[in-house]
Amino acid sequence: MPIDATKPYDDSNIFAKILRGEIPSTRVYDDEWAHAFEDINPQAEIHTLVIPKGHYVSWDDFSAHASAEEIAGFVRAVGEVARRKGLVEPGYRLMANIGGHGHQEVPHLHVHIFGGEPLGPMICKHWK
Ligand code: AMP
Repeated sequence: MPIDATKPYDDSNIFAKILRGEIPSTRVYDDEWAHAFEDINPQAEIHTLVIPKGHYVSWDDFSAHASAEEIAGFVRAVGEVARRKGLVEPGYRLMANIGGHGHQEVPHLHVHIFGGEPLGPMICKHWK
């Protein structure tokens, strides 16, 4: 069920629990600004999630309210994870779902990294 990305941050969400170590995740990267782990239901050969350490509901919330340091740290972490996974060549895809039309399900900002195989066109038009 997609979330309403305009709601305030609620720290009972599953990614907040992963950040607090209350539920396990397959940690692939961690630094001051970001944590990365494998998606539990991978949609590509490689499907990794990168989340900021700060409490932001979505890309909208993050881009409007995060500090320049948080934004730089998070963006650098996403790139670092992709490099460590060896994805720069042959290439990969980043995705951030926002709100209802974006079909965002977890209300803590996350960037999906997809790769490890050809990913096809940008958006599937025939999902309904
Ligand atoms: P989104 O639709 O962009 O909000 O994506 C949420 C993603 O989180 C989905 O791809 C889920 O498979 C993934 N997910 C949900 N719970 C977990 C979890 N406990 N560990 C790893 N990935 C998860």
